[in-house]
Amino acid sequence: MTHKSLAADEVTTAVCGYCATGCGLRLHLQQGLAVGLSPESEYPVNLGMACPKGWEALRVLDSPNRATTPMRREGNQLIAIDWDEALQMFCHEFKKIGKEHGPQSVAFLSTGQIACEEMAFLGCLAKFGMGMLHGDGNTRQCMATAVTAYKESFGFDAPPYTYADFEASDCLVFVGANPCIGHPIMWERVLRNPNDPEIVVLDPRVTETAMAATEHLQLRPKSDLILLYGLTREVIAIGGVDKDFVERSTCGFEELSQCVDAYTPAVTAQASGIDEEVIRRTARKIADASAASFWWTMGVNQSYEGVRTAQAIINLALITGNIGRPGTGANSITGQCNAMGSRLWSNTTNLFGHHDFASAEDRQRLAEILGIQSERIPDQNSLSYDQIMDGIDSGEIRGLWVIATNPAHSWIDQDDARRRLAKLDFLVVQDMYANTETAAECDLLLPAAGWGEKSGTFINSERRYGLHKQVRRAPGKALSDFRIFRAVADYWGCGEMFSDWTTPEAVFQIMQRVSCGRPNDISGINGYEQIDQCGGIQWPWSTQDAASGLPEQERRLFAGGKFFTHDGKARLITAEPGTMPEPPSDQYPFILLTGRGTVSQWHTQTRTSQSPILRKLYPETIYAEIHPHDAQELSIATGDSVRVRSRRGSIVVQASVTSSVGQGQVFIPMHYGATNRLTLKHFDPYSRQPSYKDSAVSLERVQ
Ligand code: SF4
Repeated sequence: MTHKSLAADEVTTAVCGYCATGCGLRLHLQQGLAVGLSPESEYPVNLGMACPKGWEALRVLDSPNRATTPMRREGNQLIAIDWDEALQMFCHEFKKIGKEHGPQSVAFLSTGQIACEEMAFLGCLAKFGMGMLHGDGNTRQCMATAVTAYKESFGFDAPPYTYADFEASDCLVFVGANPCIGHPIMWERVLRNPNDPEIVVLDPRVTETAMAATEHLQLRPKSDLILLYGLTREVIAIGGVDKDFVERSTCGFEELSQCVDAYTPAVTAQASGIDEEVIRRTARKIADASAASFWWTMGVNQSYEGVRTAQAIINLALITGNIGRPGTGANSITGQCNAMGSRLWSNTTNLFGHHDFASAEDRQRLAEILGIQSERIPDQNSLSYDQIMDGIDSGEIRGLWVIATNPAHSWIDQDDARRRLAKLDFLVVQDMYANTETAAECDLLLPAAGWGEKSGTFINSERRYGLHKQVRRAPGKALSDFRIFRAVADYWGCGEMFSDWTTPEAVFQIMQRVSCGRPNDISGINGYEQIDQCGGIQWPWSTQDAASGLPEQERRLFAGGKFFTHDGKARLITAEPGTMPEPPSDQYPFILLTGRGTVSQWHTQTRTSQSPILRKLYPETIYAEIHPHDAQELSIATGDSVRVRSRRGSIVVQASVTSSVGQGQVFIPMHYGATNRLTLKHFDPYSRQPSYKDSAVSLERVQ
């Protein structure tokens, strides 16, 4: 008998709402509502595959922990109220704070988890309608480094690749990336590569991806910049430079050569722990490849020198001419389903549509397109996430609106973060779930619809706009984030300013006008229907492009060697490597690495913990991976309770003795609530991204 989830009377497609892979899903409908799903075999991203999170995307909507009604704090409790009271309270409290303390005293924290159209509405409403100066996204925690690196090197935040490049390379270099579990469908694309490619992995851990590599460089934590410079020096020394491309399309090769000259194989080997011969062999593999591609994620981005490390990767791709051709690229892999949308459309630290708040010309252009006075657009950049947290601590920021993110769990140095959040006069949380750590502390909870209960677009890692659709009803009184922003605008008294912002697709048309003539031009997209029919559409797709026909499914940037800088040349940017701010000491002799645990876990587990199937696929209890030698020294065995202590706090975890971590290192997945009680609050100076992977800790078996 056919299972009821497959007995559909209708089928539609939508992109998945978890990660930035952006898989296409086929939704099985009965009377218009989704009862099941399967991966879409025609979608160019996933080609009929999905990971466990995607398969479970509908089930987590049915959780009893859903926020189903607005709630306000009364003493230690949150009590149910109606939307009218919630919206009146929202406006009254934020207006009161703004009146007493100025427009800088209220801020918002946005997310990479909602649609482009929703984050556009939020950012424009908050800054142009409500008069806020400061707002940032949780993408600061994952992608800010890649954004800054691309902007400085390419002149625009422009990941150049398309997923077909996974299958077209003959040498794939993964730096601080574990796609086997972090981006499993991308890894499946690697496995389809017919070239028997070299797979080089730079990672301090023996990750699942490292186990599958043809060359694993198990470098010391935070020696990646030196190792990349050492590889660059060797590539230059063996004649691996594409001189023609460097001359034609880049600036700064002389400075780069001088900078890396000090990183001889001997010096690099001493700093990184990688054998000289392996350094030479790896450089040779890169130099000899006809199509080498370079991929990075959080191991690079979440670092106190992440921007310069990302640029060292970009430099390697550029000097070897590995960009703009099939199988090449300096390719940042994104995390959240719409982190890429946030980078363009959230109106947080970039002015809406990747403009510049400090540019009068940009403000004027935008004001004309949006039909608002240019004076309504702030002429200063927003504070970044960490600076907003500092502002809360100093009392300068007193009201905070948090949308679809969970800082009380995910922000670095958690005890300090919670202490700061507790100082707020008014904390609003807008979320699908009522049981997040941040919702537990809020003064007002606004219940939001989730993926599948609303529609809009996400942009995936390869710049592809994908459509997601409403196939379920939101529970109780929960509303789509779009409708909440619409209601806030009306209650605030600025609804008129957004009279054209009637539906997500109407906002998409506004975004198209804003993008016109820019590197991210999407003016040629013929509505949501075309996105749906074409298997998503990568930016750019301008009206001029559209005149030549339908968009091809796989397009990459920089094919002509021309970049978005004023002279069309990419910049080769370097800096002297720094030192770890909190090196291991006698008292704290281990380096704590944090990161993704399993394929079935996602960030703070707000959603993944709602699925009984996903819960079965990961350890329930927080655990730490400890090297066998260290475990023996400390008389620790697998399953023992171990106290992990840092200068910030101490937690008890279950030991997992394994040589997947190096000696002197400990790995704890980021998904567990306690992990960030240990992490040291420090940031990349250019991107302000937190550095989560280099805190000093001690270990002690709990008797
Ligand atoms: S890989 Fe990402 S986009 Fe694809 S099904 Fe899994 S969570 Fe969804």
